[in-house]
Amino acid sequence: MSLRPEVPFSSVLDYSSSNKTFQCFQGNPLNRLNIHRKTLQDLVQHSQTRFLPYRQLKVLFSQEKKQPVWLTYDKLFQQSQLTIEQCELVVLGIGPNTIADRPTPVTTIEPTKIDTQLLNKFLLASEPTPDEYIYCALALPSTSPDSSLGSYVDLRPILPYLSVIDAALCGQGRALLDWHASYKFCGKCGSSTTSLEGGTRRKCTTCNHTIYPRTDPVCITLVIHSDGQRVLLGRKASFPGQVYTCLAGFIEPGESIPEACSREIWEESGVVIDTKQVQYFDSQPWPFLGGQLMIGCYAQAIDEQVALNDSELEDCRWFNRDEIGQMIQESLNMTSKNLRIPPPIAIAHQLISNWHTNTKNVV
Ligand SMILES: [Zn+2]
Repeated sequence: MSLRPEVPFSSVLDYSSSNKTFQCFQGNPLNRLNIHRKTLQDLVQHSQTRFLPYRQLKVLFSQEKKQPVWLTYDKLFQQSQLTIEQCELVVLGIGPNTIADRPTPVTTIEPTKIDTQLLNKFLLASEPTPDEYIYCALALPSTSPDSSLGSYVDLRPILPYLSVIDAALCGQGRALLDWHASYKFCGKCGSSTTSLEGGTRRKCTTCNHTIYPRTDPVCITLVIHSDGQRVLLGRKASFPGQVYTCLAGFIEPGESIPEACSREIWEESGVVIDTKQVQYFDSQPWPFLGGQLMIGCYAQAIDEQVALNDSELEDCRWFNRDEIGQMIQESLNMTSKNLRIPPPIAIAHQLISNWHTNTKNVV
Protein backbone atom coordinates (compact mmCIF):
# COMPACT_ATOMS: atom_id res chain seq x y z
CA MET A 1 0.00 0.00 0.00
CA SER A 2 1.38 3.35 -0.95
CA LEU A 3 1.16 6.13 1.59
CA ARG A 4 2.22 8.85 -0.76
CA PRO A 5 -0.26 11.51 -1.74
CA GLU A 6 -1.60 12.13 -5.19
CA VAL A 7 0.79 14.34 -7.09
CA PRO A 8 -0.77 17.55 -8.36
CA PHE A 9 0.64 17.73 -11.88
CA SER A 10 -1.61 20.60 -12.83
CA SER A 11 0.05 23.88 -13.73
CA VAL A 12 0.82 26.00 -10.71
CA LEU A 13 -0.79 28.96 -12.47
CA ASP A 14 -4.05 27.09 -13.15
CA TYR A 15 -4.08 25.58 -9.69
CA SER A 16 -3.53 28.87 -7.89
CA SER A 17 -6.10 30.56 -10.16
CA SER A 18 -8.82 28.06 -9.30
CA ASN A 19 -7.94 27.12 -5.73
CA LYS A 20 -8.20 29.92 -3.18
CA THR A 21 -6.63 27.86 -0.41
CA PHE A 22 -3.44 27.07 -2.34
CA GLN A 23 -0.30 29.21 -2.68
CA CYS A 24 2.52 28.67 -5.18
CA PHE A 25 5.45 26.76 -3.55
CA GLN A 26 3.07 24.90 -1.23
CA GLY A 27 2.25 21.20 -1.87
CA ASN A 28 5.74 19.69 -1.62
CA PRO A 29 5.06 15.95 -1.16
CA LEU A 30 8.60 14.75 -0.48
CA ASN A 31 9.58 12.83 2.61
CA ARG A 32 12.37 15.05 3.93
CA LEU A 33 14.49 12.14 5.05
CA ASN A 34 15.53 12.84 8.61
CA ILE A 35 16.88 9.29 8.90
CA HIS A 36 18.60 8.93 5.54
CA ARG A 37 20.32 12.28 5.71
CA LYS A 38 22.94 10.68 7.95
CA THR A 39 24.19 8.44 5.11
CA LEU A 40 24.65 11.09 2.47
CA GLN A 41 27.34 9.30 0.46
CA ASP A 42 25.08 6.27 0.04
CA LEU A 43 22.29 8.52 -1.11
CA VAL A 44 24.41 10.31 -3.69
CA GLN A 45 25.45 7.10 -5.47
CA HIS A 46 22.11 5.36 -5.05
CA SER A 47 20.64 4.23 -8.38
CA GLN A 48 17.36 5.85 -7.42
CA THR A 49 18.82 9.29 -6.73
CA ARG A 50 18.05 12.13 -9.12
CA PHE A 51 19.76 15.53 -9.13
CA LEU A 52 18.37 18.92 -10.09
CA PRO A 53 21.34 21.09 -11.13
CA TYR A 54 21.56 24.82 -10.48
CA ARG A 55 24.24 27.17 -11.77
CA GLN A 56 24.45 30.52 -9.97
CA LEU A 57 20.96 29.78 -8.58
CA LYS A 58 19.58 29.28 -12.08
CA VAL A 59 17.82 25.95 -12.49
CA LEU A 60 18.30 23.56 -15.43
CA PHE A 61 15.02 23.77 -17.33
CA SER A 62 13.81 22.11 -20.52
CA GLN A 63 12.06 24.73 -22.66
CA GLU A 64 10.73 21.91 -24.81
CA LYS A 65 9.10 19.90 -22.02
CA LYS A 66 8.44 22.92 -19.81
CA GLN A 67 9.86 21.16 -16.78
CA PRO A 68 13.06 21.05 -14.71
CA VAL A 69 15.72 18.54 -15.79
CA TRP A 70 16.57 15.77 -13.30
CA LEU A 71 19.87 13.92 -13.88
CA THR A 72 21.31 10.59 -12.70
CA TYR A 73 24.65 10.22 -10.91
CA ASP A 74 26.15 8.70 -14.07
CA LYS A 75 24.98 11.52 -16.26
CA LEU A 76 26.30 14.16 -13.88
CA PHE A 77 29.57 12.74 -12.66
CA GLN A 78 30.70 9.72 -14.69
CA GLN A 79 30.11 11.30 -18.09
CA SER A 80 31.84 14.56 -17.22
CA GLN A 81 34.87 16.02 -15.43
CA LEU A 82 32.68 17.13 -12.54
CA THR A 83 33.19 15.73 -9.03
CA ILE A 84 30.76 15.80 -6.13
CA GLU A 85 33.34 17.76 -4.07
CA GLN A 86 33.05 20.67 -6.51
CA CYS A 87 29.34 20.97 -5.87
CA GLU A 88 27.07 22.00 -3.01
CA LEU A 89 24.50 19.27 -2.53
CA VAL A 90 21.23 19.30 -0.60
CA VAL A 91 18.82 16.41 -0.19
CA LEU A 92 15.23 17.44 -0.87
CA GLY A 93 13.57 14.14 0.02
CA ILE A 94 12.02 10.93 -1.32
CA GLY A 95 9.08 11.04 -3.68
CA PRO A 96 7.37 9.33 -6.62
CA ASN A 97 9.63 8.74 -9.63
CA THR A 98 6.96 10.27 -11.85
CA ILE A 99 8.07 13.72 -10.67
CA ALA A 100 11.25 13.30 -12.72
CA ASP A 101 10.12 10.72 -15.31
CA ARG A 102 7.05 12.33 -16.75
CA PRO A 103 6.08 10.88 -20.10
CA THR A 104 4.02 13.81 -21.34
CA PRO A 105 4.08 17.62 -20.99
CA VAL A 106 2.58 18.90 -17.78
CA THR A 107 -0.43 20.47 -19.43
CA THR A 108 -1.70 17.12 -20.71
CA ILE A 109 -1.82 15.45 -17.31
CA GLU A 110 -5.07 15.55 -15.39
CA PRO A 111 -5.01 17.74 -12.31
CA THR A 112 -5.18 15.89 -9.04
CA LYS A 113 -5.91 17.02 -5.56
CA ILE A 114 -3.54 17.52 -2.65
CA ASP A 115 -4.74 15.20 0.11
CA THR A 116 -3.46 16.73 3.33
CA GLN A 117 -4.30 13.70 5.48
CA LEU A 118 -2.45 11.35 3.17
CA LEU A 119 0.42 13.79 2.94
CA ASN A 120 0.88 13.76 6.71
CA LYS A 121 1.01 9.96 6.75
CA PHE A 122 3.51 9.96 3.91
CA LEU A 123 5.86 12.24 5.77
CA LEU A 124 6.31 9.50 8.36
CA ALA A 125 7.71 7.05 5.80
CA SER A 126 11.47 6.90 5.17
CA GLU A 127 12.30 4.04 2.77
CA PRO A 128 12.21 4.66 -0.97
CA THR A 129 10.12 2.05 -2.76
CA PRO A 130 11.04 0.79 -6.25
CA ASP A 131 8.85 3.44 -7.84
CA GLU A 132 10.37 6.33 -5.90
CA TYR A 133 13.44 8.52 -6.26
CA ILE A 134 15.64 10.34 -3.78
CA TYR A 135 15.58 13.94 -4.97
CA CYS A 136 18.57 16.22 -4.50
CA ALA A 137 19.45 19.74 -5.64
CA LEU A 138 22.98 20.55 -6.64
CA ALA A 139 24.85 23.84 -7.04
CA LEU A 140 27.36 23.39 -9.87
CA PRO A 141 30.52 25.51 -10.11
CA SER A 142 29.79 28.81 -11.87
CA THR A 143 32.24 27.78 -14.60
CA SER A 144 30.27 24.64 -15.51
CA PRO A 145 29.49 24.33 -19.21
CA ASP A 146 26.00 24.69 -20.63
CA SER A 147 23.87 21.57 -20.86
CA SER A 148 22.44 20.00 -24.01
CA LEU A 149 19.37 18.95 -22.02
CA GLY A 150 18.13 22.42 -21.19
CA SER A 151 19.18 25.90 -20.18
CA TYR A 152 19.94 27.44 -16.80
CA VAL A 153 17.17 29.95 -16.09
CA ASP A 154 15.88 32.11 -13.26
CA LEU A 155 13.06 30.37 -11.40
CA ARG A 156 10.70 33.32 -11.20
CA PRO A 157 9.93 33.85 -14.92
CA ILE A 158 9.28 30.13 -15.51
CA LEU A 159 6.89 29.72 -12.57
CA PRO A 160 3.76 30.03 -14.75
CA TYR A 161 4.95 27.00 -16.77
CA LEU A 162 5.68 24.73 -13.82
CA SER A 163 3.47 22.18 -12.15
CA VAL A 164 2.57 22.54 -8.47
CA ILE A 165 5.17 19.91 -7.56
CA ASP A 166 7.90 21.31 -9.80
CA ALA A 167 7.45 24.77 -8.32
CA ALA A 168 7.63 23.44 -4.76
CA LEU A 169 10.78 21.35 -5.42
CA CYS A 170 12.57 24.02 -7.46
CA GLY A 171 11.77 26.54 -4.72
CA GLN A 172 13.02 24.26 -1.95
CA GLY A 173 16.27 23.64 -3.84
CA ARG A 174 16.83 27.29 -4.66
CA ALA A 175 16.21 28.49 -1.11
CA LEU A 176 18.55 25.89 0.40
CA LEU A 177 21.37 26.39 -2.11
CA ASP A 178 21.13 30.17 -1.74
CA TRP A 179 21.45 29.76 2.04
CA HIS A 180 24.50 27.49 1.71
CA ALA A 181 26.19 29.94 -0.65
CA SER A 182 25.67 32.74 1.89
CA TYR A 183 26.95 30.88 4.97
CA LYS A 184 30.33 29.49 3.92
CA PHE A 185 31.93 31.14 6.95
CA CYS A 186 31.20 31.13 10.66
CA GLY A 187 29.56 34.29 12.00
CA LYS A 188 31.28 33.81 15.38
CA CYS A 189 34.94 33.10 14.52
CA GLY A 190 35.18 33.57 10.75
CA SER A 191 36.42 30.04 9.97
CA SER A 192 34.94 28.02 7.13
CA THR A 193 31.77 26.00 7.69
CA THR A 194 30.85 22.60 6.29
CA SER A 195 27.51 21.17 5.22
CA LEU A 196 26.06 18.31 7.27
CA GLU A 197 23.19 15.84 7.03
CA GLY A 198 22.21 16.42 3.45
CA GLY A 199 22.47 20.18 3.70
CA THR A 200 20.05 20.62 6.59
CA ARG A 201 22.67 22.50 8.61
CA ARG A 202 26.27 23.79 8.53
CA LYS A 203 28.89 23.55 11.22
CA CYS A 204 31.99 25.64 11.87
CA THR A 205 35.20 23.66 11.33
CA THR A 206 36.91 25.49 14.22
CA CYS A 207 34.44 26.40 16.98
CA ASN A 208 31.65 23.89 16.14
CA HIS A 209 29.02 26.62 15.96
CA THR A 210 25.99 25.15 14.17
CA ILE A 211 23.92 27.18 11.70
CA TYR A 212 20.49 26.17 10.44
CA PRO A 213 18.85 27.31 7.19
CA ARG A 214 17.03 30.57 7.77
CA THR A 215 13.59 31.67 6.69
CA ASP A 216 12.75 35.34 7.07
CA PRO A 217 9.14 36.02 8.06
CA VAL A 218 7.38 38.73 6.09
CA CYS A 219 3.89 40.00 6.86
CA ILE A 220 1.82 40.85 3.80
CA THR A 221 -1.47 42.48 4.62
CA LEU A 222 -4.65 43.49 2.88
CA VAL A 223 -6.05 46.43 4.82
CA ILE A 224 -9.84 46.79 4.64
CA HIS A 225 -11.53 50.19 4.99
CA SER A 226 -13.99 50.62 7.85
CA ASP A 227 -16.79 50.85 5.26
CA GLY A 228 -15.92 47.26 4.25
CA GLN A 229 -16.06 48.18 0.57
CA ARG A 230 -12.53 49.35 -0.13
CA VAL A 231 -9.02 47.95 0.30
CA LEU A 232 -5.60 49.60 0.53
CA LEU A 233 -3.01 48.83 -2.14
CA GLY A 234 0.32 50.42 -2.96
CA ARG A 235 3.03 50.30 -5.57
CA LYS A 236 6.78 50.84 -5.62
CA ALA A 237 8.35 52.75 -8.48
CA SER A 238 10.13 49.54 -9.53
CA PHE A 239 6.89 47.59 -10.10
CA PRO A 240 6.05 46.79 -13.72
CA GLY A 241 3.23 48.62 -15.49
CA GLN A 242 0.39 49.66 -13.21
CA VAL A 243 0.68 46.86 -10.63
CA TYR A 244 -0.68 47.61 -7.15
CA THR A 245 -0.40 45.13 -4.30
CA CYS A 246 -0.81 44.52 -0.57
CA LEU A 247 1.60 46.22 1.83
CA ALA A 248 4.39 44.00 3.13
CA GLY A 249 7.48 44.06 5.29
CA PHE A 250 9.84 41.94 7.37
CA ILE A 251 8.80 41.05 10.89
CA GLU A 252 11.44 42.49 13.20
CA PRO A 253 12.84 40.84 16.35
CA GLY A 254 10.47 41.37 19.26
CA GLU A 255 7.37 41.87 17.13
CA SER A 256 4.24 39.75 16.94
CA ILE A 257 2.62 39.33 13.53
CA PRO A 258 -0.11 41.95 14.20
CA GLU A 259 2.45 44.41 15.58
CA ALA A 260 4.63 44.03 12.48
CA CYS A 261 1.58 44.47 10.23
CA SER A 262 0.60 47.61 12.12
CA ARG A 263 4.10 49.17 11.98
CA GLU A 264 4.69 48.37 8.31
CA ILE A 265 1.30 49.68 7.23
CA TRP A 266 1.73 52.91 9.14
CA GLU A 267 5.29 53.42 7.87
CA GLU A 268 4.34 52.84 4.26
CA SER A 269 0.85 54.35 4.12
CA GLY A 270 0.08 56.32 7.29
CA VAL A 271 -3.03 54.15 7.78
CA VAL A 272 -3.67 52.86 11.30
CA ILE A 273 -5.07 49.36 11.84
CA ASP A 274 -6.67 47.61 14.79
CA THR A 275 -3.98 45.11 15.93
CA LYS A 276 -6.65 43.07 17.73
CA GLN A 277 -8.42 42.32 14.45
CA VAL A 278 -5.53 41.09 12.30
CA GLN A 279 -6.64 37.81 10.77
CA TYR A 280 -4.33 35.13 9.39
CA PHE A 281 -5.18 34.02 5.85
CA ASP A 282 -2.44 31.68 4.58
CA SER A 283 1.33 31.56 4.15
CA GLN A 284 3.62 31.13 1.17
CA PRO A 285 7.23 29.96 1.07
CA TRP A 286 9.05 32.47 -1.16
CA PRO A 287 12.51 31.17 -2.13
CA PHE A 288 13.90 34.50 -3.34
CA LEU A 289 15.83 37.29 -1.62
CA GLY A 290 17.42 34.87 0.83
CA GLY A 291 14.31 32.74 1.50
CA GLN A 292 11.16 34.18 3.02
CA LEU A 293 7.86 33.02 4.44
CA MET A 294 5.07 35.36 3.35
CA ILE A 295 2.43 35.48 6.09
CA GLY A 296 -0.80 36.71 4.54
CA CYS A 297 -3.20 38.64 6.79
CA TYR A 298 -6.31 40.80 6.70
CA ALA A 299 -6.45 43.93 8.82
CA GLN A 300 -9.16 46.45 9.65
CA ALA A 301 -8.33 50.16 9.30
CA ILE A 302 -9.28 52.56 12.10
CA ASP A 303 -7.67 55.67 10.56
CA GLU A 304 -7.82 55.70 6.76
CA GLN A 305 -5.84 58.86 6.01
CA VAL A 306 -3.04 57.98 3.57
CA ALA A 307 0.44 59.49 4.08
CA LEU A 308 3.57 57.96 2.54
CA ASN A 309 5.62 58.18 5.73
CA ASP A 310 8.79 56.34 4.70
CA SER A 311 8.67 57.03 0.93
CA GLU A 312 9.03 53.29 0.19
CA LEU A 313 5.95 53.44 -2.03
CA GLU A 314 5.43 55.55 -5.11
CA ASP A 315 1.67 55.56 -4.54
CA CYS A 316 -0.82 54.07 -2.09
CA ARG A 317 -4.58 54.40 -2.19
CA TRP A 318 -7.97 52.87 -1.54
CA PHE A 319 -9.64 50.83 -4.30
CA ASN A 320 -13.35 49.98 -4.36
CA ARG A 321 -14.83 46.60 -5.18
CA ASP A 322 -15.51 47.38 -8.84
CA GLU A 323 -11.96 48.58 -9.39
CA ILE A 324 -10.60 45.48 -7.66
CA GLY A 325 -12.76 43.21 -9.83
CA GLN A 326 -11.31 44.85 -12.93
CA MET A 327 -7.75 44.62 -11.59
CA ILE A 328 -8.18 40.89 -10.88
CA GLN A 329 -9.22 40.35 -14.51
CA GLU A 330 -6.24 42.38 -15.75
CA SER A 331 -3.87 40.38 -13.53
CA LEU A 332 -4.40 37.30 -15.67
CA ASN A 333 -2.66 39.13 -18.53
CA MET A 334 0.99 39.57 -17.56
CA THR A 335 1.58 42.15 -20.29
CA SER A 336 -1.42 44.33 -19.43
CA LYS A 337 -0.60 48.02 -19.15
CA ASN A 338 -3.79 48.70 -17.19
CA LEU A 339 -4.26 48.82 -13.44
CA ARG A 340 -3.83 45.31 -12.08
CA ILE A 341 -2.81 43.25 -9.07
CA PRO A 342 -0.03 40.58 -9.05
CA PRO A 343 -0.71 37.22 -10.79
CA PRO A 344 -2.30 34.22 -8.99
CA ILE A 345 1.10 32.72 -8.08
CA ALA A 346 1.54 35.55 -5.53
CA ILE A 347 -0.21 35.34 -2.17
CA ALA A 348 -1.14 39.02 -2.58
CA HIS A 349 -3.39 38.01 -5.46
CA GLN A 350 -5.09 35.38 -3.33
CA LEU A 351 -5.60 37.79 -0.43
CA ILE A 352 -7.23 40.34 -2.73
CA SER A 353 -9.35 37.96 -4.81
CA ASN A 354 -10.51 36.08 -1.71
CA TRP A 355 -11.70 39.38 -0.21
CA HIS A 356 -13.38 40.32 -3.47
CA THR A 357 -15.35 37.09 -3.83
CA ASN A 358 -15.88 36.33 -0.19
CA THR A 359 -16.03 39.64 1.66
CA LYS A 360 -18.23 38.44 4.50
CA ASN A 361 -15.68 35.87 5.66
CA VAL A 362 -12.77 38.21 6.21
CA VAL A 363 -12.27 40.50 9.21
ZN1 LIG B 1 33.34 29.30 14.29
